[in-house]
Amino acid sequence: MRLKSIKLKHYRNYEQAQLKFDPYLNLIIGDNAQGKTNLLEAVYVSGFGKSFRTNKESELVGFNRDMAYVSIEIERDNHIVDRIEYRINHQSKKEFLINGINITKISELLGSINLILFYPDDLKLIKDSPVERRRFLNRELSHISKIYCGDIIEYNRILLQRNELLKKIQSSKDWYDMLDVYDEQLSEKGSRIIAKRMSFTEKLNRISHEIHSNLTESKENLTIQYVTTVKNLDNYDKIKGDLIDQLNKQREVDIRRGFTSVGPHRDDLDILVNDINIKSFGSQGQQRTAALSLKLSEIEIVKEEVGEYPILLLDDVMSELDIKRQRDLIYALKDVQTIVTTTDLKNLLDDYINNGKIIEIEHGS
Ligand code: ATP
Ligand code: MG
Repeated sequence: MRLKSIKLKHYRNYEQAQLKFDPYLNLIIGDNAQGKTNLLEAVYVSGFGKSFRTNKESELVGFNRDMAYVSIEIERDNHIVDRIEYRINHQSKKEFLINGINITKISELLGSINLILFYPDDLKLIKDSPVERRRFLNRELSHISKIYCGDIIEYNRILLQRNELLKKIQSSKDWYDMLDVYDEQLSEKGSRIIAKRMSFTEKLNRISHEIHSNLTESKENLTIQYVTTVKNLDNYDKIKGDLIDQLNKQREVDIRRGFTSVGPHRDDLDILVNDINIKSFGSQGQQRTAALSLKLSEIEIVKEEVGEYPILLLDDVMSELDIKRQRDLIYALKDVQTIVTTTDLKNLLDDYINNGKIIEIEHGS
């Protein structure tokens, strides 16, 4: 899959702009505050339906403008070209179109363009709370599987209702029997989510282990493990049975607290380097390299699952790596379309980037 072109109108600091992309390497160069990240963000929104920097979509509209408009063209490996367009107004109202047809579900968008973004905040994946790692799993799996995307939306809906029910039961036991209905529904969706996450984590572990070993000259052993309260993980039915048992066991605690304490919404990933959990004990450099290994693995996983390489967006990543790592990275990505932002090219201007395109950005132009 390749990004062919983009058009922007009244998007953040872009008045009007359009550009064509190289099918492989694109280096977006410019000083601070010129619009490099804004450009990547505009591409990102077309694939995810939302920004990675804000939940307030009205912020994407240019100052003193009514509406932001973005249009991108992507070319699939079978040469079919699709156009994705969106408009966002001041009330954060969003409208997405694929080939001129309005789409109502974000899952349609997620399935039609595969993007992977790597930016400095990705260290959160390693360092922050389990929420970040669950978000990562949900995002990746939603891209690979529309069914997963649907399951997670449903699961969250049922979870919210169950939690409301728990609070009602605190004041009236009349509602108690309703819990059986929710537990059945929750464990059905929940076990599908856990099963998918387990197999994704196994794959992630296998691939990232090898990538990490290459990046660290075999000095570091990276291991990724899915952490869940479910004990019996043999197959989908066993997971479901175990989950129902646990929901049952936790009922009184859950009623007292007013929320559901077991299930995939509480699970996590352990990220270990040489058997040590780097969330707590890793150096900054180890954490950074592990985050990078995970991102690079995603590329391979998407390729395996959907048969095409995703488009890679790298924001401000180069400045975090030493020159050797920068070059190794660019080289490792030679088959992938990559859009990289940087303020400084001098380290990269050699034969490694003979075939790329350099796009200079100044004041949103
Ligand atoms: P850096 O190298 O510091 O990361 P950058 O080139 O990535 O810089 P961007 O984050 O793309 O910079 O931001 C460019 C400019 O866009 C900023 O100066 C910011 O004030 C401006 N900007 C952000 N939102 C809007 C908006 N809604 N309307 C107009 N300008 C905006
Ligand atoms: Mg930036």
